[in-house]
Amino acid sequence: MNFKTFNFHPQIAAGVQALGYMTPTPVQLQSIPSILQGRDIMSLAQTGTGKTAAFVLPILQRLMQGARGHLRALIIAPTRELAEQINETVYGLGSQTGLRSVTLYGGVAINPQIQKLRQGAEIAVACPGRLLDHIRQGTIKVSALEVLVLDEADRMFDMGFLPDVRKILRHLPSQRQTLFFSATMPSDIRRLAHDILRDPVTVQIDHTVPLTTVSHALYPVDKHLKTALLMEILRHTDTESVLVFTRTKHRAKQIARQLGKAGYCATSLQGNLSQNQRQAALNGFRDGSFKILVATDIAARGIDVSRISHVINYDIPDTAEAYTHRIGRTGRAAKTGDAFTLITREDASMVRTIESSLGVKLERRTLKDFNYTAPAQKMESLLHHQPLQRHKQATARRTKSKKAAAFGSPARTTSFSRTTKQRHARVSSGTNPSAHRSRQSRGTR
Ligand code: AMP
Repeated sequence: MNFKTFNFHPQIAAGVQALGYMTPTPVQLQSIPSILQGRDIMSLAQTGTGKTAAFVLPILQRLMQGARGHLRALIIAPTRELAEQINETVYGLGSQTGLRSVTLYGGVAINPQIQKLRQGAEIAVACPGRLLDHIRQGTIKVSALEVLVLDEADRMFDMGFLPDVRKILRHLPSQRQTLFFSATMPSDIRRLAHDILRDPVTVQIDHTVPLTTVSHALYPVDKHLKTALLMEILRHTDTESVLVFTRTKHRAKQIARQLGKAGYCATSLQGNLSQNQRQAALNGFRDGSFKILVATDIAARGIDVSRISHVINYDIPDTAEAYTHRIGRTGRAAKTGDAFTLITREDASMVRTIESSLGVKLERRTLKDFNYTAPAQKMESLLHHQPLQRHKQATARRTKSKKAAAFGSPARTTSFSRTTKQRHARVSSGTNPSAHRSRQSRGTR
């Protein structure tokens, strides 16, 4: 089965080819034919399944026919990051079509958005708050709207956007096609779907079991040793891009800072940042200049970085759904990834909940050379004295024996991307990380 089956307009097929999509994913196979027929869709699919292209492609196909120069498709998403990502997919798949799109979200100037709307964008990707502003100010015309997409509806509900969404819906033409995407179906979302969909086709992609391309492991540890263990995991693991989740904004910032001090190219993504700072963090993570992004759940929603090799839950998530969402950031599409979760004794009941939701017992891992009994104070002070790896090699050498004692292993001056020279140095001193990695079995790449 390939994309030719859908008989897309050649200009759209060119976009599919440009993005390198060869085989449609299950959600695309199940949704695209019905959407092309004009049916409403209720799709239970999590991020990472290819759901964005599942609605973008048939929308582009529809817009190839008919008038241009006014808004015909509206996609509503919970976060600015997700809106940007969807827009990138529209841009990528529609690059040859001449169709125009605009993103509408708050935290940035409204005038450029108004201008793009005036110029006749056919597609808008919007967050609820700013969209309502445009509707109230009369700067968006929705009267000729043909297709509405609600993406990640459950997250919109979590973020308190449902009243705004209902207000928006009152302004839209009732004659339209509606495509509804949600990873989970809490009762408020089910009610909303029931109210706005007409005879929908239901598409259900296994939404509770995370992608099989992801391998999971739990790392039991005392609370005060979490940061040290995180560092040790990073030292022993071959990674591309790593997404670390914390429960609070403050901790995201703090961990990113500590990782930075330890020589990693790390940054944080959390709600206290301005839109420009958020975008800079995301762009840096996407283009690889930041190898580690430490984020809270809300901030990380919808992040799509194709090279995320590892998701590390510094703090266990609050729900099994949140676990699924978080690890949906890795192993995307056909790639594989690892999901590590640091767990303390207090997390026991959430671990059980996650395991029962996944239907599997997750592997517990311990690092052979990590000192799990180090006292709190000592570990903290050692972390503060962790040398800046790239710039303080001399300091690193001086502190080597001191750290070795505390971590139970020879100290390393490992920066995130190790050089061949460093690898050789370690081989000759008997601390070759690959040897250690093979002892750790799965979970390293
Ligand atoms: P999504 O679930 O829409 O966030 O998509 C997850 C990732 O899969 C994105 O990086 C897409 O570009 C990619 N993707 C979507 N459809 C396909 C496909 N048919 N083949 C390969 N990659 C895809």
